[in-house]
Amino acid sequence: MEYFNNRKEKKGSVKNEASGRNGKGQGLCPVSQLCGGCQMLDLEYEKQLRLKQKQVEELLKGLCPVKSIIGMENPFHYRNKVHAVFSQDRRGNTVSGIYQENSHIVVPVDKCMIEDEKADEIIVTIRGMLKSFKIRPYNEDTGYGLLRHVLVRRGFQTGEIMVVLVTASPVFPSKHNFVKALREKHPEITTIIQNINSRGTSMVLGEREQVLYGKGYIVDELCGCRFRISSRSFYQVNPVQTERLYGKALELAGLTGKETVVDAYCGIGTIGIIASRHAGRVIGVELNQDAVKDAISNGKLNGTKNIQFYCNDAGRFLVNMAARGEKADIVIMDPPRSGSTEAFMSSIGKMGAEKVVYVSCNPETLARDLRFMKKLGYKAVEGWAVDMFPATAHVETVCLLSRIK
Ligand code: SAH
Repeated sequence: MEYFNNRKEKKGSVKNEASGRNGKGQGLCPVSQLCGGCQMLDLEYEKQLRLKQKQVEELLKGLCPVKSIIGMENPFHYRNKVHAVFSQDRRGNTVSGIYQENSHIVVPVDKCMIEDEKADEIIVTIRGMLKSFKIRPYNEDTGYGLLRHVLVRRGFQTGEIMVVLVTASPVFPSKHNFVKALREKHPEITTIIQNINSRGTSMVLGEREQVLYGKGYIVDELCGCRFRISSRSFYQVNPVQTERLYGKALELAGLTGKETVVDAYCGIGTIGIIASRHAGRVIGVELNQDAVKDAISNGKLNGTKNIQFYCNDAGRFLVNMAARGEKADIVIMDPPRSGSTEAFMSSIGKMGAEKVVYVSCNPETLARDLRFMKKLGYKAVEGWAVDMFPATAHVETVCLLSRIK
């Protein structure tokens, strides 16, 4: 299953299996080869699921039994967050799309098989408006031009839509007219933000923001709770599967209403707030300040009284908790792709947690961490792969670990 480790090398092997539906090797998306984001797009969905299941099984062999993968009914247009980079082609025309894999060349994209269709439409509208407003796309080489990126986020239950215009400088001539014209074309947009990114880095969003219209964030619903999401906070990109993932995570946690739960790497507090309804108390920890602010207001939005959020490195926070002699019954952890740290995991045992629910977006680091947890006396008893990212090679996994008595 090397296929998953290195996108470039393995792209070929998938292509052989998925020779394209029209028989010309073109498949469902004309730019899939240049983009490289959807290595499995032209592979039958059932086959995609089988490959992902196999990958997780192989990586977790001898570490955790894996149940059958949770797939989607409609595996297209699931991404609720869409990002487009703006640039100029050689003839000086404005283009918007995605960076070609491992490069800064922009591949024009109007429609994408996995992105939200309304979000794609809005991006095309914005591109069409630039000329009449004399807004030039930013040129990375010369440093001229204004608009660098557009980010669109859509609440799948609420329909609320956020548009973030990322500009190279704070000076945005005729921005009010631009916003007005955009809203006339897309009255469904609920908030528009200008984000200023003058840095020469590959980060999409800068630190400074100005709300041009609306409340500056969107609200969405998951598992019966409401969540405020701001531009720079992490929020799962596939809401349909997120509900399934969280549902499974909570089922594995098996809360009875009394437990002290740690929600580590909690983002905007989603898992913790949903869990708080079935727990004694919940402690959330997250590194990103904006996400923590969102998490705190999300606690209030849902009337949650038994949850507290802290802005800290999850490892440092847990080491401190353990040193103070604090206890936790269950640790739910959802680290980034790099996985967790030995400091974090070592503290779990010290706090006396009976169960750990590990949510992972990278089965390789999950396998590494499960190996370490085994040494600490935690056995992985059940794992579920969840297809959060159809058409791509990524897969989410949730595992229940139990303390060996
Ligand atoms: N559980 C959340 C977020 C998961 S994504 C959800 O389901 O939406 C992983 C989160 O870990 C991100 O919000 C990221 O900002 C956060 N993070 C990354 N490194 C961290 C660290 N060292 N300590 C705490 N949080 C961290």
